Amino acid sequence: MKEQILKKIESAGVVGAGGAGFPTHVKLKCAPDTVIANCVECEPIIKSDKYLVEKHAAEIIEGMEAVLECTGAGRGVLAVKRKNHEAVRELEQAVSGKKNLSVHLLDNYYPAGDEQQIVYEVTGRVVPVGEIPIKAGCVVLNAQTLYHVSRAVLGIPVTSRMVTIAGEVKAPMTVEVPVGTPVSYLLELAGGVKVPEYAVILGGPLMGRGAEDPDKEFVTKTTNGVIILPADHPLVEKKTDDLSHQLKIAKSACCQCNYCTLICPRSNLGLGVQPHKIMQALTWNNASVLADGQAALGCCSCGLCTYVGCNMNLSPDRFISEVKKELLARKVKSTQTPGRVNPFRNEIKAPSKRVIQRMGLTTYDTDIRYIDSIQSPRKVRILLKQHIGAACTAAVKEGDIVEAGQCVGKVPEKALGASVHASVRGRVVLVNAEYVDIMKA
Ligand code: SF4
Ligand code: SF4
Repeated sequence: MKEQILKKIESAGVVGAGGAGFPTHVKLKCAPDTVIANCVECEPIIKSDKYLVEKHAAEIIEGMEAVLECTGAGRGVLAVKRKNHEAVRELEQAVSGKKNLSVHLLDNYYPAGDEQQIVYEVTGRVVPVGEIPIKAGCVVLNAQTLYHVSRAVLGIPVTSRMVTIAGEVKAPMTVEVPVGTPVSYLLELAGGVKVPEYAVILGGPLMGRGAEDPDKEFVTKTTNGVIILPADHPLVEKKTDDLSHQLKIAKSACCQCNYCTLICPRSNLGLGVQPHKIMQALTWNNASVLADGQAALGCCSCGLCTYVGCNMNLSPDRFISEVKKELLARKVKSTQTPGRVNPFRNEIKAPSKRVIQRMGLTTYDTDIRYIDSIQSPRKVRILLKQHIGAACTAAVKEGDIVEAGQCVGKVPEKALGASVHASVRGRVVLVNAEYVDIMKA
């Protein structure tokens, strides 16, 4: 049975929908005691998991039960923010009478959705730096991933997902759209952009990436949000400012006040992250701190040190992320065992409202409406790499007529990856090494 479920998840192309897109059938080849559903959605403004849970709690529970069956885990915990009353109600109703399932309520802080934070909140265990939650006996799966698992068990591949379109658009919304939907179509769907000069962030405002050319961006299995901000919004400037320019400013402005480290959620879990030390090393040219790596390797790039911690308007998150990338490229590993969790961790948590206010996003933190139907564009572009691992090889050619759900990209033999599927019925109009374009029939 376990093998059958894994096979179905693999065939459906399920990947971690909340982040990097790790293939789920590979992630589930382990034996945790606890499976945690991440229904937390801590990034400001994004509401895709909130609505998914409200509308599809039963399917998320079915996905959880399938995962419990194929991993042999004894309990499943659904972690959700207590402020999302309707989602909490739906989940509590859906788990009622199921002895191995429970709902765990979290405060409204950032980054409550970080895997390490969730594992600690639910189990009191700390995942060591450089390890994944299974080291602490847990597997964490995003709500959207579990929804996709429930469909995979029925033989339905991943062809759509929830996306929030918000910010400077006329009608912010959360809607289910086919994978491959052009971002430009989403902007039309949301009534168009209200400002002449704007930037597009794919994902949440803190951890999402800026789109260089929005016309060349398409929804993938991991796209949970599209946020439009004025081009001169401080957040956009912070994300895009040249790093060497930032370093010049940091050399004169970083006063080593240590606030960035004091607020760092990974530091407060005892994981040794110290952004102020990285700033000191970079601005004072202290290579030994950088080479040692212990102050950077546990960083999760949440951005809190920058957007809430630093009063000098510096970007320690960008520097620490660069240092971490370099350390990983040089195969430097953490040698630390987790230290003591800060006994005042709860008091130090950054309330989401404060994060939103500090980031200048209060105007966009509105009640975003939910559209209760799948909205399909005329043409979709299915990227052949939407996951960690190798790109798929196209399984169709130009001129082919494909059905929605038909596999159009296969993982090369023995490679890590996840297959991709047509999200609409139509004609294949373009195939290359990166994508398959399908015109709706
Ligand atoms: S980066 Fe900012 S918060 Fe961190 S030590 Fe320097 S001035 Fe203080
Ligand atoms: S981005 Fe900053 S606050 Fe977040 S984990 Fe890294 S160092 Fe800590």
